[in-house]
Amino acid sequence: PKPQTPNPKPRTLKISESFRLCIKSEAKIITKGMGDTDVNLNIMMVGDSSVGKTSLLMRFIDEKFEETSPTVGIDYMRKTIDIGGIKVLTRFWDSAGTEKFSSMAENTFKNTAGVVLVYDVTCRESFKQLRFWLYKIREKSRQNVKIMLIGNKIDLIEKREVSSEEGSKYASENELFFMECSAKSDEEGNVPEAFNVLVQESYKVQKDVHTQRMSIAKPILPARTLSHAPSHESNGKKCC
Ligand code: GDP
Repeated sequence: PKPQTPNPKPRTLKISESFRLCIKSEAKIITKGMGDTDVNLNIMMVGDSSVGKTSLLMRFIDEKFEETSPTVGIDYMRKTIDIGGIKVLTRFWDSAGTEKFSSMAENTFKNTAGVVLVYDVTCRESFKQLRFWLYKIREKSRQNVKIMLIGNKIDLIEKREVSSEEGSKYASENELFFMECSAKSDEEGNVPEAFNVLVQESYKVQKDVHTQRMSIAKPILPARTLSHAPSHESNGKKCC
């Protein structure tokens, strides 16, 4: 699918200046200059084949539903999401629910701030497989990665095999956000809500990681400077 282009915004800041961003009235965070957007975020779609990962993405990004064929590779769609005035360019990585997934998604996982973990409420097997996917996610991604569990295809009422209570229980036991959706009908707007919550929560974590990195980095800088230019020399005092 063709990635969406975010609204063009002229790049006015020099690189050195654009490293500084102020989040609302909150603390400052440091992030690399992105040009068109302020922050980059990666979200990964995970779950068995045919549970509706691509359809959910298309519902969220293009606001439509099309009959699709199972995803065979890994690709991404992107959307710029405004969080309190900050433009967050979010890449949603769509993965195949096959064994191929493991090697293809390895690198993407490392840079993933959030995961949309999907099962099909009409397919108990895809619900059972959550254990496997959660293990993979926790094994490969950041410790504090945020996960939104989605039970998809709730429009197929007659075919339901997994109840809302089961999904909700599983989510709370495993500390996941949870939402039931239908990529096809999305009558209650659950799809955008699920994605937006996940992006916001993932963004908070990413912001904290940047802040932590900077607070760790600070004491290192003077130490390095010292080893190159000892303070007693710069003060004009001679040794011995
Ligand atoms: P993926 O392999 O997980 O990316 O799944 P797809 O998005 O390709 O969807 C697999 C099949 O399920 C396709 O035929 C979709 O049209 C269908 N599908 C996806 N979401 C829904 C939904 O919410 N309701 C119904 N009835 N069908 C859906």
